[in-house]
Amino acid sequence: MLKQKLDQFAQHPTPFYLYDLGLLRTTLDTAKAEATKYGYQVHYALKANANAPILQEMLARGFGADCVSGNEVKRALEAGFPADHIVFAGVGKSDLEINLALDADIFCFNCESVQEIEVIQELAAAKGKTAQVALRINPNVDAYTHKYITTGLEENKFGINTWELESLLPQFSQWPNVKLIGLHFHIGSQITDLRAFENLCGRVNEIQNWFEAQGLSFPHLNVGGGLGVDYHHPEEKPIADFAAYFAIFNNLLDKREGQQVHFELGRALVAPSGNLISKVLYLKHGQKTNFVILDAGMTELMRPALYQAYHKVENLTSELPAMHYDVVGPICESSDCFSKGIELPETKRGDLVAIRTAGAYGEVMASGYNLRDRVQAFYLN
Ligand SMILES: *Cc1c(COP(=O)(O)O)cnc(C)c1O
Repeated sequence: MLKQKLDQFAQHPTPFYLYDLGLLRTTLDTAKAEATKYGYQVHYALKANANAPILQEMLARGFGADCVSGNEVKRALEAGFPADHIVFAGVGKSDLEINLALDADIFCFNCESVQEIEVIQELAAAKGKTAQVALRINPNVDAYTHKYITTGLEENKFGINTWELESLLPQFSQWPNVKLIGLHFHIGSQITDLRAFENLCGRVNEIQNWFEAQGLSFPHLNVGGGLGVDYHHPEEKPIADFAAYFAIFNNLLDKREGQQVHFELGRALVAPSGNLISKVLYLKHGQKTNFVILDAGMTELMRPALYQAYHKVENLTSELPAMHYDVVGPICESSDCFSKGIELPETKRGDLVAIRTAGAYGEVMASGYNLRDRVQAFYLN
C-alpha cells in the first residue's frame, strides 16, 4: 500500500519522513470519539511530533496541548492552541520557561517538586498573576514497559512522591499566587499491558481520597498518557485500542461530580502515521550475518539505539525470496542498528526501505551528529 503511495516521492533524496495524514485523521477521529463518550479532554503531547500539519489535525479536533518545554509552549501558541488548553509538565522548568508560560496565561503547570512550586509562586507574584497548578504525583505504578520510558516508579525522577504530600499541603496557604486545581499523573510510555492503567486508577482513587480526608478536592484530574501502539503489525493493527483504554478509566476511576478528566496522549495518536523512508546504500557480508546498510541512521530515528525499540523494516522494492539481515545505519556507532536478524526479501543496493510506525519520537529526536543534514518531511493526503 505504502509502495504505490510512494511513487510521487520517487524523485526526493532519501532519507525522509513520510506522514500518512489519512491514517492520522482516522486515528484522531477514533480517539476523539472514544474520549467524547465520557466527556474526557485529550491533550496532545507535542514532544512526540510537533510538525505544523500534524498540530493542525490536533487543533481541528479540539485537542489541547501537553508541553514539556518553553519552546513547546511557544510552538503550541503559534500553532493556534488556545492558552487555556495548554498544560506544562517537566521536572526542570527554567525561570525563563515559567515566565513565558505565565505571560501566556496557560491553563495549568503540572508541578514536579516542592521547590518548583515555590519558584512559580515567586515568579507569579512578581507579575501580579495567579498560576494554576496541578501536583504531578508519582503513584509508584509499574508501567511494564522499557525502563527508560517508565516514569511512575519512586526510583524515577518524575513527580512528587506521596510521602512528601503531608508536609506540602500546609505550605499552600503561604503561596497566594498559586492555585491548586488538580492532580496529575503520567506513568510511562508505550504501555501495552492495560493492567498498568487499571493499577493507576486504583492509586489515583486512593490519593484523591487521601486529599479529601485533608479537606481538599479538585476540579481536575489529569491521568497523563502512555497508551502504546503495535510496532509489530503496522498494517493489521494501525490504530491503538482507544475504546479499551478510555473504558478502563470510565470503569475504574472515581470521578467526582463535575470533575474534568484530562489525558495526555502522544505516541498512540501519531506513531502509526509516520514512516522513515530510506535507500539501501550497500550490502555487506559479516562474519555471522549480512548487513543492509541504509542511508538513514540513528540521527534520523534514535529509538532503536536509545531504547532497543523495535520498528518493522520493509523492503518496498524487492519481491525476491527472503533472507536474514541486520539492518544498520551509516553513523559511526555500533548502536546505530535498526533491526537484527530480520527477514527481508533479498535486498540490493538502491532498494527503498520503509521503517514503520515512526511518527512519534522519531523526527523530533533527529540530531546533527556526524554533521548529518536535517531530515525532511513529506505528507500524504
Ligand atoms: C511524554 C509525555 C506524555 C505522552 O506520552 P505518550 O507515551 O507519548 O502518550 C504525556 N504526559 C507527559 C507529562 C509526558 O511527559
